[in-house]
Amino acid sequence: MSDEDTADIQLESRLREQEYFRPPPEFVGQANATDRDIYDEVGEFPEGFDRYAELLDWDERWDQTFDGSNPPFFEWFVGGKLNAAHNCVDRHLDERKNQTAILWEGSDGEQVNLTYQDLYRRVNETAAALRAQGVEEDDVVTIHLPMVPALPITMLACARIGAPHSVVFAGFSAQALAERTDSADSDFIVTIDGYYRRGEFLDHIEKTDEALEQTERDPDVLAWLRHDEPQADVSDDYVRMADLLDEHAGARVDPVSRDAEDPLFLMYTSGTTGKPKGCQHRTGGYLSYVTATAKNVLDIEPGDTYWCAADIGWITGHSYIVYGPLALGTTSVMYEDTPDYPHKGRIWEIAEKYDVDIFHTSPTAVRMFMKWGEEYPEKYDFDFRHMTTVGEPIQPEAWLWYYKHIGDEDAVIVDTWWQTETGGHLLTNLPALDDMKPGSAGRACPGIEAALVGDDGKTLPEASGQAGNLIIERPWPSMLQTVYGNDERFIDTYWAEYSDTDSDDWRDWNYKAGDGAVQAQDGYWRVLGRLDDVMNVAGHRLGTMELESAVAEVEKVAEAAVAAREDTEKGEVPDVYAVLREGIEESDTVREEIVRAVEDEIGKFARPANVIFVDDLPKTRSGKIMRRILENISNEEELGNTTTLRDPSVPEQIRDELAEK
Ligand code: ATP
Ligand code: MG
Repeated sequence: MSDEDTADIQLESRLREQEYFRPPPEFVGQANATDRDIYDEVGEFPEGFDRYAELLDWDERWDQTFDGSNPPFFEWFVGGKLNAAHNCVDRHLDERKNQTAILWEGSDGEQVNLTYQDLYRRVNETAAALRAQGVEEDDVVTIHLPMVPALPITMLACARIGAPHSVVFAGFSAQALAERTDSADSDFIVTIDGYYRRGEFLDHIEKTDEALEQTERDPDVLAWLRHDEPQADVSDDYVRMADLLDEHAGARVDPVSRDAEDPLFLMYTSGTTGKPKGCQHRTGGYLSYVTATAKNVLDIEPGDTYWCAADIGWITGHSYIVYGPLALGTTSVMYEDTPDYPHKGRIWEIAEKYDVDIFHTSPTAVRMFMKWGEEYPEKYDFDFRHMTTVGEPIQPEAWLWYYKHIGDEDAVIVDTWWQTETGGHLLTNLPALDDMKPGSAGRACPGIEAALVGDDGKTLPEASGQAGNLIIERPWPSMLQTVYGNDERFIDTYWAEYSDTDSDDWRDWNYKAGDGAVQAQDGYWRVLGRLDDVMNVAGHRLGTMELESAVAEVEKVAEAAVAAREDTEKGEVPDVYAVLREGIEESDTVREEIVRAVEDEIGKFARPANVIFVDDLPKTRSGKIMRRILENISNEEELGNTTTLRDPSVPEQIRDELAEK
């Protein structure tokens, strides 16, 4: 064994035994949030949040920080007026008009640097074009664009003229586009002829053609082009953005002064648990909160190069690619294609090329990088100071791999728990103030009051170490305003269960997150996953997260999901669906190793009923594992709603694999 191998093994075992990881002193020395008083100051409800709003430019200052008189329809920064595009673009022109705002890398390595000045010009021209096309204040504009500069430009142009946008993830089908267009009462669809996926040009406009046949409305279509000339068949009925922009070259459009409570956008949830909900977000509270968390949690400074490798079509991209980072005046990276094109080192190659300081990704991506192996990141010279994960609980195993092989043990990691509905981070550490603990999101953010409710409906004592249903006891500025057009669904989904719905005192209202969690004695929160994902094995409540973490300890496993199979004797038993690392063959030995890992980590009672080797797991477009589908497979039931699956053929493949056994 080489010295290097020995060192590696020693490090692995040290990492395994260690519970907390200190943020590196160099990080702490330069961090934005270094004073613990921030918890008390922001926690002074509600005025503590004024300091978040003060990070923005307002046309008129608010008269009232918070109005809780009509729960759960809470209002923030009442009486204030502002424009989000002004805050993300115009206000930076004095100090940094020549700094890159958006640094875009295309599929083939093409590079576009939009400075704040360029962004200003393009947002203005696009705003003029939208207006000329008849878009008025408060009209909802549906945006079906991939990761090209036209996407943030169109969003900011909408914000400039006070038209809420509703971005539909580009990978979604015509049907999803049609449904969301109808559901949002939208009369405008903004699309593009096509874009690149694994280096191939993908016809995108055909989804619009098809969606128009399905919608109940008759929206105008505005089409961007990926190149100077169309590469797909763009109907003559569609308005070419290029033509409109020519007509409006050099145009300037005054930013519309919006009420703080006017909606900025709609965003549909990712559909992991069922039919997506159209979350409506306000202008003032949302922008204040995402700007403050981008600053304090993501530690963004204007001079940084920041890369959130998510898609803008998700809330993460809205809050932490576009609005938060640009409001702070930083350089935000966007990449068009997939992480494995044209090779599995592409992400790290880009990180090296642009000298990225802050990197943001999801546990599902970390597991994929792990599966590919550390030889890819090792080939490139990049140096992150800060890394984020979001979207799912991260298994300690994956966390450690990320820490060691991507962060080189000298970057901080924040595991951020939040939701489409919450607009911004709610549970996560401020990275300079607290130690990292793999598998835990950390503390509640300043001003956020989280709690757990037991099955008996009673609030659990603080930091009890017991599992419960996660609720948020106090409103916060970036919370959704409602489910678009459906106040009843808003109340039923998020409030009814844990609130006194007859009360008009906001203190009697609690927001239900729909996730299970534990608050450990150190005050750190560990999110266990969906409540539906908690199973009951012979009277023991087990989070799928715990089982999956145990399975992830087996080095040969790249990724695993656990589903509950009904069992006459024990109530439920776990089935493990495992994807093996590249180059590992499935065998009874590996199966035994997995079973043993669960028995050792959790207990014999949790012994998996089956270990099923699969090529892929059913995931949403945003990369989350859809355990309810596996559960249906395990229990030989109908699959239910699969419209938001990334690869709709995966459930059938798994069924076929099972049938062969
Ligand atoms: P739907 O609500 O339509 O089922 P969704 O909940 O997957 O979809 P999102 O709003 O994108 O849609 O995801 C939020 C959920 O993601 C959270 O409720 C939680 O279950 C999970 N999640 C996000 N971040 C974390 C994290 N850091 N740790 C654990 N879970 C997380
Ligand atoms: Mg959800």
